[in-house]
Amino acid sequence: AAPLVIAVSTAISAKKGLLIRDRANFEEARKLNAVVFDKTGTLTKGEFGVTDIIPIDGYSEEEILKFAAGIEQNSEHPIATGIVKATEEKGIHIGKITDFESITGKGIQGKVDGKKVNVVSPGFVNSNNLTYNEKLFNKMSEEGKTVVFVLLADELIGMIALADMVRDTAKEAIAILKENGIHSIMLTGDNRKVANWVAEQLSIDEVYAEVLPDDKANQVKRIQEKGWKVAMTGDGVNDAPALATADLGIAIGAGTDVAMETADVVLVRSNPNDVVDLMELSRKTYRKMV
Ligand code: ADP
Ligand code: MG
Repeated sequence: AAPLVIAVSTAISAKKGLLIRDRANFEEARKLNAVVFDKTGTLTKGEFGVTDIIPIDGYSEEEILKFAAGIEQNSEHPIATGIVKATEEKGIHIGKITDFESITGKGIQGKVDGKKVNVVSPGFVNSNNLTYNEKLFNKMSEEGKTVVFVLLADELIGMIALADMVRDTAKEAIAILKENGIHSIMLTGDNRKVANWVAEQLSIDEVYAEVLPDDKANQVKRIQEKGWKVAMTGDGVNDAPALATADLGIAIGAGTDVAMETADVVLVRSNPNDVVDLMELSRKTYRKMV
């Protein structure tokens, strides 16, 4: 039978909304040196609202939204949800989509009413040498807005800026980690300027931006190579390999099934501050046993 302290800690963790899926790794929580957080959906709410639509080349705002939402209706990314919601609010009819495909960590592509459309990251646009109003792009990014680009038949037709909200509880969590000498790190696929803006709001110690999904796990490995015990906290499909690599994988309860199935602990209340409770509970549980 499990020792009594473990049975008691299971009851406490359930009450706090901590779902412990791997006990051995939960034990590691008391020895952590660093906690890595995904940005979108973890440190932020992951609820994007469209703030600006910038037409390029004579297209109207409605046309840009219509094409973008046409392919975003097939994506589960929070950016997609925000764009589709904006067309619904404006009563814009969304076209028929075919040939949908996602370009991992860079966006999506498909055909809307038979026309090729891409909605992609700044990284994609830069690596294809497409030109746009960089000054405006930089301004929006520095305000913490995530900007995506809309392409029609490989030509840029517009930029869409979206804003997300930082979770208040994330700020608290990072402050307490700092008091306890634990390093906090942000890992995101989003643009560097947006990442820095969020990092400043939260006083996070270190930021890795524009990280492709496959590289999230490698980045965790590199941090572990300092001899550190590392936790990874994330919500998305893209985070699963990093959750598996970390000494402790923590999934946000409102996230994807893949993240939850990979994690050692699930934060049922989706509150980043519960990472702190989790470490304390691990400390108390295992101190009593030795
Ligand atoms: P995160 O680490 O913030 O969850 P992702 O790796 O999912 O980021 O995405 C990285 C970037 O790729 C996004 O910031 C965006 O520019 C682009 N992207 C990903 N999915 C989509 C999508 N469905 N529509 C438009 N852009 C996308
Ligand atoms: Mg995320």
